[in-house]
Order: sequence, then structure tokens, then C-alpha cells
Amino acid sequence: MNNFEHLIDTEQIYQHAPSGYLSMLPDGTIIKINQTLLDWLGYQRENVIGKLNFSSLLSKGGAIHYEMFFRPMVSVNGNIKELNYELIGAGDKNFPALISANGVMDENRKLLAVNMVITDITQRNLYEKELLSAKNKLQSEKTRFELLADLSEELIWTVDYHGEVNYFNGRMSRYFNLSRGDAVTSILFQHIHPEDRRKLMQAWHGTDKTLDPYINRLRFGSEQKGYEWFEVHLIAVNDLAGDIRWFGTANSINHLMMTIERKDEFIHIASHELNTPVTVLKGFLQLMKYGLPAENMNNFISKCLATVNYFQFLIGSLLNVSVINSGELVLNISSFSLAELLLSCIEQASALSNSHTILLQSNVDKIFVTADKERITQVIINLLNNAIKYSPGKKEVLLMATLLPDQHQVAIAVKDYGVGIATDQLDKIFEKYYRIRETQSIKGLGLGLYITQNILMAHGTRLNVETKLGEGSTFSFIIP
Ligand code: ADP
Repeated sequence: MNNFEHLIDTEQIYQHAPSGYLSMLPDGTIIKINQTLLDWLGYQRENVIGKLNFSSLLSKGGAIHYEMFFRPMVSVNGNIKELNYELIGAGDKNFPALISANGVMDENRKLLAVNMVITDITQRNLYEKELLSAKNKLQSEKTRFELLADLSEELIWTVDYHGEVNYFNGRMSRYFNLSRGDAVTSILFQHIHPEDRRKLMQAWHGTDKTLDPYINRLRFGSEQKGYEWFEVHLIAVNDLAGDIRWFGTANSINHLMMTIERKDEFIHIASHELNTPVTVLKGFLQLMKYGLPAENMNNFISKCLATVNYFQFLIGSLLNVSVINSGELVLNISSFSLAELLLSCIEQASALSNSHTILLQSNVDKIFVTADKERITQVIINLLNNAIKYSPGKKEVLLMATLLPDQHQVAIAVKDYGVGIATDQLDKIFEKYYRIRETQSIKGLGLGLYITQNILMAHGTRLNVETKLGEGSTFSFIIP
């Protein structure tokens, strides 16, 4: 090995190493410095050696720290590791430095000199700054996402690699009454309808392997509060930080699902309703075919006509709905006597019922109104039919027409003393196909009030209800 010693120039290495080297006496007088450090500081060697004190290379604060900490530590411990100082060079040649030092001691542990290794950490500081700003940016992105997520009406959450929920938004926390730190995953599972839980587990198992998005309709809620339908989306995330595996959202589709359910129910009821008159009519016709005593013929024909009328009414309701749906409800406006119209409505409604008497209270004898006569007739007959249907066992129904004090408007009201309507049902009874569960034994398609409300809205007015469960209801509207 000795043969190669001459190839290594230690002085050259010392002078041009990528670190700065500096030696000083215990009082700080600089006795040796390498070229690298001189270049960093912008000094000439002859102006430094024996002339400059190390503390004069430090800022004011640095010099105090050096006196209070650096010097005593080196004297006692003999070394110091990686202290951070700002070094002040010539002109604006300042730079942040990391300094390690070793004391040279005599046999009595008296400090003779100090050797220092100095690293310029300008770059490192820049990296650290960039890292910090990236971290801050990430934090602000996270805050922004969470703020947005909290404003959302959707339930939003994320799941980590262990299947644990590690974030949920405000809506979700309110919906499930969650607090940070709860065992959210198991709470959520408890809130999924048992049938859907099984469905979810099966699908999830497959999805977790393939990382395909999972989209499904599930019911969340509880036995006590009832379940609501949600559309759930789970998307696998390729998260570099590694703490999010799944991103989940759920939005309420309860209204949609209820409408679909009601439509199915409606189709079931409507097909039965339509089938009944046809069966009855067929029976009558067969009887007639086999010959009937002449004296019964009239009676049978009347019954056939009544059945055909009911059939026509059912088909009429369906046609009305399709006209409303397509936005083609056109009014045929004319001016007519309100008193005559009311009498005609009573006559038509009475023909369908022999259980109730319709009493008229009116002060509109000479009043003419401008509206669609046929449609307003339809509205009043509909309300009268409902009043009769939903007051079984009662004898009277009231039809009231009142000229309002301004003499320009008439209030029409139909009052019954029947089953009444619960307050929480009031905003639903005008929906298409909606029928209150408690009255489902009474025949109906759930379309009457929907059609009525739409006819009145086309006239620029609306149906109002006053009702008390068990005491009866009053449906009213105003015609200009
Ligand atoms: P239906 O064909 O079921 O009678 P409607 O649209 O006319 O359909 O009414 C919707 C629901 O509102 C009914 O199912 C019934 O529960 C309730 N309802 C309507 N009118 C009355 C009333 N006068 N009294 C009590 N409940 C009523």
C-alpha cells in the first residue's frame, strides 16, 4: 500500500474538500482554514489567519450563542455535533451552516485548539422549505376538500387499507350521530338493512380483489327510525400516501324508490280496478244473451251503463295523468253560472252514492265565473267522491260556495266528518299514486288529488286542506 502514498495529496484534499475546515485557538483566533471555506466566505487567506476571530464570522445572536454554549461545551466535552449557525462572509456572502467541532486537549485535558467541519446547508434548507410548503399545501387541500365535503348533502367517507373508515363528512356525522374516534365501520354496518348487508358483503368481497367501482342501492337507518334508500358509490383510490383505499359517497334516493314502489303498487291496483268492471259487464251481457224477463231488462241496462261509466272514469284518470305528465293540460275557458255548476256536481256525485246526502251552502246564486267548466266540475266531483269515500258510516257531506268580501273571488269547500288525515301525510297526498296506508282498504288509484291539484294550478290557484284525524277534513280552493 505504501507504494501509492505519493499519489494522495492530503493537503489538496483538505483545501478543496466539499466541506469547510477551520481550526482556531481556544480564544477563537483562526489558525487554519481551507480554500473551500475561504471561497464560501469570500475572504483572502492572508486577511484571516491570525487576524480574524471565529466569532466575527457569526451574526450577533450567533456570537452570543457561541459564547454561552459552543465554547463551554467544547472546553468541557471536547466536541460538539451539528450546531446551526448563520456564517457572515464578505459582502453578502452569508450562508446557513452546520458546524461540528473537536477540541484538541493536552494530557491535563486543557484545550489547546479546536478543529471544525462546516457544511453549507443552503440547499438543504431550500429542500426543507419546499417540503414544508408542500406539506402546507397538502393540508390546505385537505381542509378545502373537507370543507366542500361538509357542505355536500351527500354522505362522504374514506376507508383505509384495513377496511376502517378514516374520514366522514358533516352530513354523515349528523345522519349516523357519529363522533371522531367512534368505531365508525362497525356502527355503519349496524345501520345497513340486514338484507342489504348480506348483498354488500358478497359484492364487496369481489370488488376488493378487482378494485372495480362498487355501485349499489342500499337501505340505511334503524328498526326504530325506519330505513331510507341510498345510492352508494365506492371507488378504489390509488393513494400514494397509502392511507386511503376506498372513497365512498351515498346520496338519498328514497323519494325515487318510494315513487317506484308506489308505481308498482299502482299498476297492481289499476289492473285490478280495470278488470273488475269488465268482469261485471261480461256477466251482465252473458245473462242478457241467455234471455232475461223483459221487466228486468231496464234494470240490467242501467247497471251496465253504471259499470261502463266507472270504467270510463278509471280510463279518464289515466288519460288525465298522461296529459299532466306531458305538460299538455290545456284549459277551455268560458264564463258560466257557478250555482248551476254546483247543482250539476251534486247530481252527478249523488248518482254514485246512496249512503250520503250532499248539503249545499251557497251565497253565489247570481255569480258567473270564468274558468274551464268541465275541469272545475271534475275537481268538485272528485272532492265530493273523496269526502263520501273517506267518511264511511257518516250521512252528510257539505259543499260550500262563499263569495269573498272583495266580491271578486269565490271560495269553494267540501267538508266531511270522516277519517281525517294525519298532519305528516298532508304534503304527500297530492303526489302521484300516493295513498295513505291506513285507508288502503277503500278503493282508489291515488290519482284524484294529484289531478285535482294540477287542474287548479293550471287555473292559478291551489287546493288547501284543514283536517283532524278522526273528525273529518275540509278541502277548499278559491276561483277568481
Ligand atoms: P284515492 O284514489 O286513493 O282516493 P286521492 O288522490 O284522491 O286518491 O287521495 C289520496 C289519499 O288522500 C287517499 O288515499 C286518502 O288516504 C287521502 N284522502 C283524500 N281525500 C280524503 C278525505 N276527504 N278524507 C280523508 N283522507 C282523504
